[in-house]
Amino acid sequence: MSIEVKNITKSFGKFVALNNVSLEVQTGELVALLGPSGSGKTTLLRIIAGLESLDEGEVLFHGEDATQQSARQRRVGFVFQHYALFRHLSVLENIAFGLRVRPRQTRPSKEEISEKVHELLKLVQLEGLAKRYPSQLSGGQRQRVALARALAVEPKVLLLDEPFGALDARVRQELRRWLRRLHDELHITSVFVTHDQEEALEVSDRIVVMNKGRVEQIGTPEEVYEHPANPFVYNFLGSVNLFHGRVHEGQASLGPLAVNSPEHAQTQNALAIGYVRPHDLDIQRVENGSSFESVVQHIHAVGPVVRVILCSIKQHHLLTLLLIGLNIL
Ligand code: ADP
Ligand code: MG
Repeated sequence: MSIEVKNITKSFGKFVALNNVSLEVQTGELVALLGPSGSGKTTLLRIIAGLESLDEGEVLFHGEDATQQSARQRRVGFVFQHYALFRHLSVLENIAFGLRVRPRQTRPSKEEISEKVHELLKLVQLEGLAKRYPSQLSGGQRQRVALARALAVEPKVLLLDEPFGALDARVRQELRRWLRRLHDELHITSVFVTHDQEEALEVSDRIVVMNKGRVEQIGTPEEVYEHPANPFVYNFLGSVNLFHGRVHEGQASLGPLAVNSPEHAQTQNALAIGYVRPHDLDIQRVENGSSFESVVQHIHAVGPVVRVILCSIKQHHLLTLLLIGLNIL
């Protein structure tokens, strides 16, 4: 089931939450909506789900206009940021809920529901916990129940809104790898929201970078990380050092450095900012013609990563180097 979002605009009162947003999700793809808080990720996900109305634009499921369809007609499974489990229902009853509330004609038999729930418990690795109540589960277990509950109605599309946002770092890491494996096993089309760039880079096939209700860039993790479309994407996807200077007829001068910048061949003496990822910089003891003379201000070494703060003598820039596996002694 492919999803297509075409030119969606959505305002709350005078506030424009989504401004002409378009994107496509291919069948079986896992796509991340990544952006800072308030950038419109949840609003977009809810519009795709049919839980929120839109002002302008269209949502197509498998090429067909679904804009007027309800969430149920769209057959989407939704997992919320905060475990929206029913507290007074057991794990089993939570997972079975979507099947039990179906109209009698389409409702599976008791035996079928029980079989389905046990299949799902196995899938999310929670066999044996069917009788527990949400309060007797850890955060990670609760989110897996929420996922099983969303999957029970056999959705064609799975939508997840910061599903691991409330969990601690280690559980998050474990669950996001697990989600990737599950997605691949089920061949389901998934869209998941996160504000965590590492999570998006690690889990998704493609990333939609959002900011202030607009799409800044869409691409594979490698594309958005290595070839950011603009300064916002550069900054949002990891640490970056800025070098202020000028650009003139295809040559950028950034402090003592001269860098070719052929894409600005026509530019005349304009202000410019160079962006460099920390791991693209090296420290050398000897001047080599394309370097900044710097003073090491601080070295922070934890595990395999060494963070070095440098102050450039001429430019008074603070640079951060993130050096991996470097023996600095
Ligand atoms: P994100 O999920 O990226 O943090 P949201 O989509 O939740 O962002 O919200 C985008 C913006 O729209 C925010 O500024 C938020 O305050 C506003 N907003 C979201 N829902 C509503 C609503 N129901 N009423 C008014 N403003 C809303
Ligand atoms: Mg949100």
